[in-house]
Amino acid sequence: MKATGIVRRLDDLGRIVIPKELRKKLNFVERQTQVDISKEGEYIILSSKEKGGLSRVLDELGRVVIPIELRRTLNLEDRDSLEIFTEEEEIYLKKYSVGCMQCGEVNGVITTGKVSLCRKCLKKMVAYVKSNTKILD
Ligand SMILES: [Zn+2]
Repeated sequence: MKATGIVRRLDDLGRIVIPKELRKKLNFVERQTQVDISKEGEYIILSSKEKGGLSRVLDELGRVVIPIELRRTLNLEDRDSLEIFTEEEEIYLKKYSVGCMQCGEVNGVITTGKVSLCRKCLKKMVAYVKSNTKILD
């Protein structure tokens, strides 16, 4: 699988724009291509071939709706970012996870709203809050 280095945000209707260069390369045609959308692990797979997934037509702006059931299963919320990968003729999307804002660690990062922290930094913060309960008043 190849990383494209492209990250795209889901809009508030759960749509994602397939980058133009990828649409060209993989022959995804606006208003024509029935995109087969399936899931493998933490990836969403978009294919122009029928693979038994859910089917959505690419709209006139090259967007495709990620079905709500898939968004739910993968914990994707509106405006979440997806990282785009390619594998042969298919597009793989994965929830883009930022590193810990404090130390940059990428594993075990917990994100709430716009705050992302790794467990270690989160524990430090919790300990700090516990020892300074006045800041909660
Ligand atoms: Zn951290």
